[in-house]
Amino acid sequence: MLGAMQDWDLRVTRLIDHAAREHAAREIVTHWADGSETRTNWAEVRRDALKMTQALRKLGVTKGDRIATLAMNHSRHLVTWYGAVGVGGVLHTINPRLFDDQLEYIANHAEDQVLLYDAAFQPLVDRMKVKWTTIKRYICFDNGEFEDWIGAEDGETEWASGDERDPCMLCYTSGTTGNPKGVLYQHRSTMLHAITGLQPAIFDMDATTVMLPVVPMFHAASWGLPWSGAAAGIKFVFSAVNDPAVLCDLMNREKVTHSAGVPTVWLATFQHMDATGTTLPTLRHAIIGGSAAPRFMLERLMQSGVNVAHAWGMTETSPIGTTGAKTFDWADKDFAGQVDIKQMQGRVPFGVELRCVDLDDPAKVLLRDGQTSGALQVRGPWVIKRYFKADADATDAEQWFDTGDVAILHPDGTLQLTDRTKDVIKSGGEWISSVELENAAMSHPAVAEAAAIGIYHPKWDERPILVVVKKAGAEVSGDEIKAHLAQSVAKWWLPDAVEFVDQIPHGGTGKVSKKDLREQFREYTLTD
Ligand code: AMP
Repeated sequence: MLGAMQDWDLRVTRLIDHAAREHAAREIVTHWADGSETRTNWAEVRRDALKMTQALRKLGVTKGDRIATLAMNHSRHLVTWYGAVGVGGVLHTINPRLFDDQLEYIANHAEDQVLLYDAAFQPLVDRMKVKWTTIKRYICFDNGEFEDWIGAEDGETEWASGDERDPCMLCYTSGTTGNPKGVLYQHRSTMLHAITGLQPAIFDMDATTVMLPVVPMFHAASWGLPWSGAAAGIKFVFSAVNDPAVLCDLMNREKVTHSAGVPTVWLATFQHMDATGTTLPTLRHAIIGGSAAPRFMLERLMQSGVNVAHAWGMTETSPIGTTGAKTFDWADKDFAGQVDIKQMQGRVPFGVELRCVDLDDPAKVLLRDGQTSGALQVRGPWVIKRYFKADADATDAEQWFDTGDVAILHPDGTLQLTDRTKDVIKSGGEWISSVELENAAMSHPAVAEAAAIGIYHPKWDERPILVVVKKAGAEVSGDEIKAHLAQSVAKWWLPDAVEFVDQIPHGGTGKVSKKDLREQFREYTLTD
């Protein structure tokens, strides 16, 4: 026997239908790269998305096709999120900060059919066009091109129908070793994630919310905000530029109540506020995630009466995993005690399960004793089963995803990240591959061995340093090694320092022990 309730499938187009019906006039403001500003609203976003759906159909786009974007945060990007899923397609948000070979790989691997891009990325598009083999149509968001394209349609159409387990979005993460890997979200997983995001401990959103998301729409689905924002009918304020002066000015003019970004963004905002005496009197909820939020940042926001959600998550978890939700005894704690709670990575909302397993014996599940650290695993309805195009394997059934983070779980469920097993470094919210840095360094004739590790940096959270063993009798300087690296990696990947040592620690299997190396450089400090 089945229950006798309605089948209301969890497809994300329901979010925009709801926003357009119940919050039609709620504004979507954009500050564009050229300094101009425009205003639209949920009803118009829906109408434009329907027009886009018609325009995509005319291009021959059908169910399951990938529609890519290369764009900052703005209203036309938001229209595209809903237009792409509306045609039954899969929205693929490409991170423009990746390198050419990664960009080449992911667009071809995704088999993108159409690319919508900001004029600011025209040089990138011109450079990559010859390498992208599947993209049939390029449409620029600026210079009237996008408006003309959808303007030829009337919006009198229906969204594509389908199953709630159909894919709706594809995000690649470079936070793993090897090629970037694709995470293919479903309508259902995205809807459940969007509804969860509304909770007070996470985004705390309702119709009074005015949200300026600094977290880019091209990284980890902007933490799902374009979906959950529609569910709550919030006012969005987008900025296509990330200048703290512009952001602060916008926040005050538009009376922004909520903002979300990585710690580096908040730091830049503080610096601007200190230099100019600017305050943010309307801000009441700040979401910080993607990297550990430093204590002074939490203190400063909390002292000014802002509610802070310090969140942990991953592209692979849609990305919400945990936030610093209040514990039952929150009110009994003094300020320092409350900051202590927020400084850890917080607790799960309903729908996410965490466990830590022994680093050497993954079959051994560790106690939540607040002391033992292990490999953090996660499961739930918006957690990845397997990467895009990866073959199903035995681990699918078990459904515990290995995060590559090392953590302690406390008896009350609080997550405390302590390290990483994955060999990547996160700088200002974006990933740097230590393996690629090492390979590039090892190709220098004077280098016998090289290892890259992340060191805490006050501005970027982490920056790479390169530890090098010279070949016997060889002479080389740190600057020479950096110049050598610059031939094969992007400038922002270059290590902040090159340290020469006699030997690098190795583990039992002969591999470099990053854990021991990080321990060796524990006191090492980098300054701005
Ligand atoms: P991404 O998929 O790029 O969002 O990166 C996810 C990874 O970022 C996680 O596996 C962690 O290593 C790191 N991360 C995310 N949030 C936090 C946090 N609050 N504190 C420390 N590290 C974090």
